[in-house]
Amino acid sequence: MPLLTAFDPWQSNLCTCPPKFSLSPYTGCSHRCLYCYASSYIRNFSLARGKKDFIDRLKKELKKIPPNSFLTIANSSDPYQPLEKKLHLTHACMEILKDFDLRIMIVTKSALISQDLELLKKIKKLVICITLTTLKENLAEKLEAGADLPSQKLKAITQIAKFVPVICRFDPLIYPLNTGEIKNIVKKVKTAGAAQIITSTYKAKPDNFNRMIKNFPEHKDTWTDLYLKKGEKRGNYIYLPKDLRRNLIEKVRQCCIDERLDFSTCREGFSSLNTKICDGSSFFPQP
Ligand code: SF4
Repeated sequence: MPLLTAFDPWQSNLCTCPPKFSLSPYTGCSHRCLYCYASSYIRNFSLARGKKDFIDRLKKELKKIPPNSFLTIANSSDPYQPLEKKLHLTHACMEILKDFDLRIMIVTKSALISQDLELLKKIKKLVICITLTTLKENLAEKLEAGADLPSQKLKAITQIAKFVPVICRFDPLIYPLNTGEIKNIVKKVKTAGAAQIITSTYKAKPDNFNRMIKNFPEHKDTWTDLYLKKGEKRGNYIYLPKDLRRNLIEKVRQCCIDERLDFSTCREGFSSLNTKICDGSSFFPQP
């Protein structure tokens, strides 16, 4: 299996961003997000491990991809998850990538990325996406037990935004867990220095749905009704009913407009609401 793979190889018609390569230094992820979509298709997902011969293989594969390609790091595991402190694979990867002409997008929910600031400054074409789902530390501790707290993520946004565009992924919107925080989150993220917000609603898959209702039994009836009875099945996911989804997403959009932040949705079928491309690629100079 190559390290550099096509992003969205299934070419979902809900995916409206440009073609790009995807790269994950790690297999699995120890952030243990209850809503994680990747955990259903990777064995022992929360027992993260570094990819075998990662650096040697990466050097070989990079020679084969066209200059100025889009490259996203990472989509099915966090590149700055705790194991990075020990293995430094993402750091080593960035050391290599700084000498390549690529448009790089890092996606993380870890403040550990701040440790690489000096190195990241050397990458010419870079956009960083930091995921923030709540400002409530006790909710974050439950929802993303192995990840950094919201205050640490906001601090990381501020540090990084001084030298590179930062996008906040307010993602997923989990009704009604974090949807009462929309206005506050948008304001805080703007104050921290982000340039855009990307959002999407939580989609149920059997394993993430079981984790969610086990950890939030008080919402079991609501989620059973909204997802299992009234939800929309799309591929392997169950979406919230369309009206509720649109309503939540429009709320985020309006708050972004009020705060003069760019806005986009991801895989919702509402791309007409976007003010910028849905993956942050608008921030790169156009060829
Ligand atoms: S950080 Fe991403 S890959 Fe890791 S557990 Fe959370 S949602 Fe899954």
